[in-house]
Amino acid sequence: MTKWHMIIDVEKCEDCNNCFLSCKDEHVENDWQGYSLSQPRHGHRWMNIVRKERGQFPLIDVAYRPTPCMHCDSAPCIRAAKEGAIYKRPDGIVIIDPEKAKGRQDLVKTCPYGAIWWNEERQVPQKCTFCAHLLDEGWKAPRCVQACPTGALRAVFCDEEEMKRMIEQENLKILHPEFRTVPRVHYKNLDRYLRCFVAGTVAVERESIVDCVKGAGVRLGNSSGASCETTTDSFGDFKLDGLEEDSGKYSLEVTHPALGRKTLEVEVRKSVNVGTILFSKAH
Ligand code: SF4
Ligand code: SF4
Repeated sequence: MTKWHMIIDVEKCEDCNNCFLSCKDEHVENDWQGYSLSQPRHGHRWMNIVRKERGQFPLIDVAYRPTPCMHCDSAPCIRAAKEGAIYKRPDGIVIIDPEKAKGRQDLVKTCPYGAIWWNEERQVPQKCTFCAHLLDEGWKAPRCVQACPTGALRAVFCDEEEMKRMIEQENLKILHPEFRTVPRVHYKNLDRYLRCFVAGTVAVERESIVDCVKGAGVRLGNSSGASCETTTDSFGDFKLDGLEEDSGKYSLEVTHPALGRKTLEVEVRKSVNVGTILFSKAH
């Protein structure tokens, strides 16, 4: 059976907030009968873009993770709501019934993703509706997807087999699998947000002049046999990404045919810039 899914590419999100604003444009001061009451102008973030800065200056990057309701197939919010105050439609979309959920502030806490917001003025819990009112009129995507200029958001209407194929092909992940809620929102390049890196710069000092070293081999390994390697770029910089946070001690080895070899120990907790690894002279 064909159902809605959303695929969010963390690598492509530029934090422009068009998705957030288009959600506001669609829902602020608009009641969508049977789907949702109006969203407050301030406070709610039905499409919540969370940010993570990694590394230390100058070797830093920032990842943005747009986070709507996950439209879970095993949704704790639905179980807690009872009597249809929150329900799943046959197309996979989870809706908070704006009438039956009136006064149910308790439902805000039932979402482990923090995707439900309390509307004090209308006395109703609210969240992303996947713009179901538009899809039911024939739209091919919710407003946020339509507004995203980079293609970071995709709405996909397909059967489970097709989705399984996409998950494998594009290495899609879900957020917090430990919640066991079976989300319908999948992420591409989620490692940009969840994992960390070891970065640094390789340089050589010749007659008091410090030069970048391009093409040095850099290898990172730990005692359990995990390893990865790269080479330095034109600025002498390297970045080994995709490491688990708090994964402990690693040995970092830098080799260059003309300069020799240097090793140092690195403790990986979060992303780390090890600074400049300086060779003193060419052999
Ligand atoms: Fe419910 Fe939260 Fe899952 Fe959305 S993300 S369906 S609000 S549990
Ligand atoms: Fe990111 Fe697209 Fe939203 Fe802009 S519109 S913040 S690029 S997901």
